[in-house]
Amino acid sequence: MADEQSTGEVWLVGAGPGDPGLLTVRGRELLAAADVVVVDRLAGAMLLDLAPPWAEIIHVGKSPVARSWSQEEINAVLVDRACAGSRVVRLKGGDPYVFGRGGEEAEACAAAGVPCGVVPGVTSALAVPALAGVPVTHRDAAQEIVIVSGHLPPGHPRSTVDWAGLAASRATIVVLMGVARLMDIADALLAGGRAAATPVAVIERGATPAQRVLRTTLDALAVDAIAAGVRSPAVIVVGEVAARDDAAADRTRPLAGVRVLVARTRPRPGRLARELRALGADAVETVVARPAPAVDAVAGLTAALAGADGLLFADPDEVAAVVALLRRAGRDVRALAGLTLAAADPRVTAALDALGLSCVTRDGLAAGSPPGQGRVLVVGAAEPPASGEWSVRRVPLLTDVIAEPDPRIVEELRHGDFDVAALASSTAARGTAELYGPLPPDLLVAAMGRRSAEACEAAGLRVDIVPAEPGVRPLAAAVADFVTANRVARGSE
Ligand code: SAH
Repeated sequence: MADEQSTGEVWLVGAGPGDPGLLTVRGRELLAAADVVVVDRLAGAMLLDLAPPWAEIIHVGKSPVARSWSQEEINAVLVDRACAGSRVVRLKGGDPYVFGRGGEEAEACAAAGVPCGVVPGVTSALAVPALAGVPVTHRDAAQEIVIVSGHLPPGHPRSTVDWAGLAASRATIVVLMGVARLMDIADALLAGGRAAATPVAVIERGATPAQRVLRTTLDALAVDAIAAGVRSPAVIVVGEVAARDDAAADRTRPLAGVRVLVARTRPRPGRLARELRALGADAVETVVARPAPAVDAVAGLTAALAGADGLLFADPDEVAAVVALLRRAGRDVRALAGLTLAAADPRVTAALDALGLSCVTRDGLAAGSPPGQGRVLVVGAAEPPASGEWSVRRVPLLTDVIAEPDPRIVEELRHGDFDVAALASSTAARGTAELYGPLPPDLLVAAMGRRSAEACEAAGLRVDIVPAEPGVRPLAAAVADFVTANRVARGSE
């Protein structure tokens, strides 16, 4: 039993083709519980936010800057970490077993007696064409798909691909790792009898904001790819379906090619960037303000807590603020003894737990309190429970401190690299104006709602986009609608 407990495990998790939204739910759960994440470059770096902050991240991908790891070294690190008792997630681009050498990693674990599981992923072979508007099968045109590695060129002694057979078939041919061998591949298919006019689509960095699509024909493939400067990673689709342009793709990713500056006022990655990325945007988050304990609230908090029955926290920052304010008043968390503590956000529970304090949810606050009016609840920024049982004393616990400008953002703004700035609160508006204003005249400004729009105007920012109702998702959708209507997208297609 002791032995079993000390052995960790390895999960080979498919990361999908590049859009973080295309990770599986199972993959997300395992990432959230990982001690160690071993990742290569193709597996979206943005997914690493889903791992716990304390997880060890090991980059093993081939990169021009970092050193490359051999497959043996990767196998060894998986086995070593698992033997040391860690839960290891091996995050692999697309599906782990589609040309990813995932099989070898699973075998290495088995040989070492390390438990290893696999979570299939959305493979780029199918998803990248789909997101570019190419359906890989079509009842009339293609009833067969063949996924081929182009790593070894046709005719190579170790190649097991029957290029002549593929050329003679009507199958859709999807080639991965084929960019370096484009000319050899086109020649082999033409020599085997595929028509010169056979449509070809080459999709570079599919499912990412940098996606580019080249449409051509088999005989012009090599010349057009060189002219377009096609680079790896790219998926090559050969066959009748490559001429199709299914309109669903544009509707799925209306912000493809659009670079959005997302102003953040909390240290944690926000939901707005996630929503924008789900619509295809290249969302770049930058911190423009940070919450800090409202120092002038020391007296207010002490007075409010005297005779109070409960304290409701909006988020973990408010927990930290209360601790800091109590300390300033010469006290500590024992001043909260006897109060019902409540969490308006699940992360509050963890923050209080770290202090050894237990709490109820906001609903628990409404339901669990004994009948009787007039119990006093101290509230920072949270929405108090709807029930009338509590009389609310509001104390501002946090204040926003404007951050420092990020020189990279300054530079990118100067170069006109952003299409849109998304401002999800009046603080975000104020911070952005203060740090980066005046903004370039052709940068679109999207504000969350009426209050943030007013803050923009007060700070001298012209507002172009405001959703009909305030909210993160409506804001992202409003940006997409505006872009679709005005086609501000650059660099896509
Ligand atoms: N296991 C991966 C494939 C690994 S081989 C999967 O299932 O998707 C690496 C090749 O995958 C690249 O050379 C390229 O051909 C393709 N590829 C992976 N991600 C891609 C992307 N976002 N856009 C285009 N091609 C991609």
